Amino acid sequence: ANASADAVVEASNQALAHTVSTSSAIDFVAYDDYRAQGGYRLAAALAGGQRDADAVITALEDAGLRGLGGAGFPAGRKWRIVREQPAPRLMAVNIDEGEPGTFKDRVYLERDPHRFLEGLLIAAQVVGIETCYIYLRDEYHDARRMLAAEIAKLQANPPCALPRIELRRGAGAYICGEESAMLESIEGKRGEPRMRPPYIAQVGLFGRPTLEHNFETLYWVRDIVEEGPQWFSGFGRHGRKGLRSFSVSGRVKQPGVKLAPAGITVQELIDEYCGGMADGHQLYAYLPGGASGGILPARLNQIPLDFDTLQPYDCFIGSAAIIILSQHDRARDAALSMMRFFADESCGQCTPCRVGTVKAAQLMQAPVWDTDTLEDLSQVMVDASICGLGQAAPNPVRCVQKYFPEEIA
Ligand code: SF4
Repeated sequence: ANASADAVVEASNQALAHTVSTSSAIDFVAYDDYRAQGGYRLAAALAGGQRDADAVITALEDAGLRGLGGAGFPAGRKWRIVREQPAPRLMAVNIDEGEPGTFKDRVYLERDPHRFLEGLLIAAQVVGIETCYIYLRDEYHDARRMLAAEIAKLQANPPCALPRIELRRGAGAYICGEESAMLESIEGKRGEPRMRPPYIAQVGLFGRPTLEHNFETLYWVRDIVEEGPQWFSGFGRHGRKGLRSFSVSGRVKQPGVKLAPAGITVQELIDEYCGGMADGHQLYAYLPGGASGGILPARLNQIPLDFDTLQPYDCFIGSAAIIILSQHDRARDAALSMMRFFADESCGQCTPCRVGTVKAAQLMQAPVWDTDTLEDLSQVMVDASICGLGQAAPNPVRCVQKYFPEEIA
């Protein structure tokens, strides 16, 4: 079983390499081809009552599928919670993909859109969803045209009864990728995060119970149910289970989306999936979770990369955007660049984030950092910001102070 599972990952990575190298011209599995290859059989069987909805949720739970947009909430549990809420229930799919360094959703979407749409239909049937809103990053022009055309083909020749499907253009702001800000944006309002509770599973889009998912979480649903949960949970290293799609960029020979076992270390990822470091570069530091996930030094290159494994290091994996730095880079420069990004992208709703990110960016320009003031500022942002942007913005600052003190002394 492991040999055949490894073959699936190898084939997927070859296809991903192909997709990345030809990203200017989308080469995807269209509707007729997808159906000819057995696609939508599962969605039709569920709609026809030949497959059991409860068994689908159990399969997701047994596979250990978690939200792959960054939060890591167990998918099966989320389906159960929303299913228990009163109808009408809605779904919102997040393809805003704004985390710096993250590009996995675009790559999968441009390769196999119907695998995702079948996951969406399965979720809609199991949870009892009336309308699905797909919120797509507006910069993905080709993908939007393609997806709109493929949804139209699906609606013209449906394999089963379909929910209403609406494709919405993202509003061009990082904060609109935060789940509650995305709902505000879909409702036509300014994209500002909501206070919680109430949680969106109970009071979400247009005040209705809402199932919110990242694109990739839905992308794996069909394979997990058809191949069995063991197919997914059979992968993993260093005590972790499942598959993760790493968006790798920076100083490696072969950057791109790498489908790899959960728990792989950054050194294994570089050596086995990226062809090693780029010529003339040695690993100096890495960002394990895009802009918000912190910065780690090369000596910590053996940490399993997964949900829950990076907290002791003041980091997190988020959407698995791995950015590799070499001896030609400085961690403090990367941290400053990210703080400026957060200052630009703060929605401005709460003072600790709106003022704190600007103030921190000013302090970080000094050759010698005022570490006491920066730590005070960081703590206030973590304690008093409404959403994850303000709460995570201090991560790079704290990491530089902890792991790279020689750069700021
Ligand atoms: Fe807006 Fe920042 Fe407050 Fe989040 S933490 S609500 S982005 S001001």
